[in-house]
Amino acid sequence: MQENKTKKINIELAKNAGFCFGVKRALKMVKDNLPRLKRPIKMYGYLVHNEYVVNELIKDGIEIVDNLNNIDNGTLIITAHGISPKIKNKLKKNKNLYVLDTTCPMVLKVQNIAKNFVDNNINVIIFGDHKHQEVLGIKAAADDKAIVFSSQEEFSKIKFDKNKIYGLISQTTQDFKSFQGIKKLAQKMNNIKIVDTVCKTTQIKQKEIIDIAKRNQVIFIIGSQMSANTKRLYQISSKINHQTYFIKNVDDLDIKLFEKAEKIGIGAGASTPDWIINRVVKKIYELSENRQGR
Ligand code: SF4
Repeated sequence: MQENKTKKINIELAKNAGFCFGVKRALKMVKDNLPRLKRPIKMYGYLVHNEYVVNELIKDGIEIVDNLNNIDNGTLIITAHGISPKIKNKLKKNKNLYVLDTTCPMVLKVQNIAKNFVDNNINVIIFGDHKHQEVLGIKAAADDKAIVFSSQEEFSKIKFDKNKIYGLISQTTQDFKSFQGIKKLAQKMNNIKIVDTVCKTTQIKQKEIIDIAKRNQVIFIIGSQMSANTKRLYQISSKINHQTYFIKNVDDLDIKLFEKAEKIGIGAGASTPDWIINRVVKKIYELSENRQGR
């Protein structure tokens, strides 16, 4: 009997739900190095845009700072999103400060593309969230000369000079479909070079959620409102499946959200830990058993 009850609900969890390569790498670098890091330990911004993970780091004695002023001793952790290469080099020259640089290699690659464009007199344009730390770092790599736009609408308002050459790149976690649309517009101009820099993991996650949103009745996207890539997954899924819900953890689960559903899809942002995802899956099964027992 018990078996039949749980079989009634089918949960499809995205294969790539949760931490991406860059986040796993950054967290491992911090955890592995923590015992020998010089104190005080400061971290510029959030290593992972998730309150639970950040709170764990704070418990370990790491202080989150929102600017790089007065950082002159101990350790500074640079997150996977990266920072201005010039500022990083300057900080690294300070002998009293150890810089633990966890910038994701994919983000460094985009920074290098931006720098190469500038070195070759190419004007950089970045598809990204204006104030996102990764975008600010890429912009800084382009000598702060880049134009940032966050939508197709903003792109069409850019006043391009026919006599100049432009280089189009993207924040690594942007909506890959939107970037495809922007690329089509850009391809109509003959003075734009395009490098697709939406990272592969982001593309895979977004493609997965598109399929899952089509195949299932109710979708849960798990993650923090702090996380831009999780919000993006939510937006993508919502456009396809109106019964898409953004939840932070099990506490946000309510049986009313999936009372009649038999097929539930789950996605999670690149900053959502596995333990939160597993608890949500378990809780959905538990709630669905109660539902059928009523
Ligand atoms: S989303 Fe991609 S670029 Fe960003 S940290 Fe993860 S792996 Fe790196």
